[in-house]
Amino acid sequence: MCWGDNKHGRLEAPEGRFKSVSAGFWFSCGIRDDDTATCWGNNLKRGYNAPDGRYLDVSAGQGLGCGVREDNYVVCWGPPTAGRFGELDVPSGPFLSVSAGQSAACGLRPDGTPECWGEVNQTAWSSLTAGPIQVVYAVPVDVEPAPGRVEQIAGAMADVQEWLRGQTGGRHLRLARGSDGISVVTVNLSDNGANRDDVLAEIYEQLGKRTPLAVFGEGEFSAASGSYETGYVSCAHGGRDAVMLSIVRCRPHGSIAVVVAHEMVHMLGAVPDCAPNIAATAGVLVHVDDARNDIMYYQHTGIPLSRLILDVGRDDYYMHGRDDCYDIAVNPLFVHPDSQF
Ligand SMILES: [Zn+2]
Repeated sequence: MCWGDNKHGRLEAPEGRFKSVSAGFWFSCGIRDDDTATCWGNNLKRGYNAPDGRYLDVSAGQGLGCGVREDNYVVCWGPPTAGRFGELDVPSGPFLSVSAGQSAACGLRPDGTPECWGEVNQTAWSSLTAGPIQVVYAVPVDVEPAPGRVEQIAGAMADVQEWLRGQTGGRHLRLARGSDGISVVTVNLSDNGANRDDVLAEIYEQLGKRTPLAVFGEGEFSAASGSYETGYVSCAHGGRDAVMLSIVRCRPHGSIAVVVAHEMVHMLGAVPDCAPNIAATAGVLVHVDDARNDIMYYQHTGIPLSRLILDVGRDDYYMHGRDDCYDIAVNPLFVHPDSQF
């Protein structure tokens, strides 16, 4: 039986026996005794019903439903009128369970690794995975590794984490950890580190998996050239899958932690183009122009990290309170230490 707000018939569960149920925003779904899935609520006319088949797990979200089929493969469904979810790609390979959210979903792999996919207001999440983010020290083939670099990189990331916790009341990046803190993996590249795709491919190969990356390159490391960072710093690049930074070329900009923090906030999905203070840098809308002490200000200011703010005014990309505009708070890479995910 169901209880709560019955608008759209969300509480009107069909007759019969169910093994499990999941209550979503517009609709709910359940698995019957025969392992078929049924959804109810404002679902049938909007195309929210589950595809035929037998299911191990089912989850009703706000904008979509997802299920794990009996062969452990995931399927997601949603309103075809929205155009987005009808074509929603899901990752290949087996899953044990799935949880659908507003317009994205996360699943648990058999080895316990969470993986997410989907989109939030057209802003794709990093690498379609929940991480953790792996920190990498990349050394091009023609460059000597510098002594103490790994410790320096771990220190910069620790500074970023501390700053984020201070800005958010405890939330920080979901980073891969080793026995003695933040894990920094050294990858010796087979080439000069000029091509971003080649660098990523080589790191993924050495790690044995795809996961979001924070890559600190030794030497010039031109793979880190920021296509839209000309007004801020041109020594780094912040993408959804990977942040890349040239240690040598970023040094004149002061603290590397400032640059990394800025790029990591890009990785989280800032700044969405629905932000009121969005500003174009090199023709791309990814920064803000309302306050010089905003970490996402469109120009490099030299202000130290301790005096920079995550979304001055809380109106553009963090905790802005509008549900029609992406907020980096929903990114599964941006967690509170008390959360399990
Ligand atoms: Zn930027």
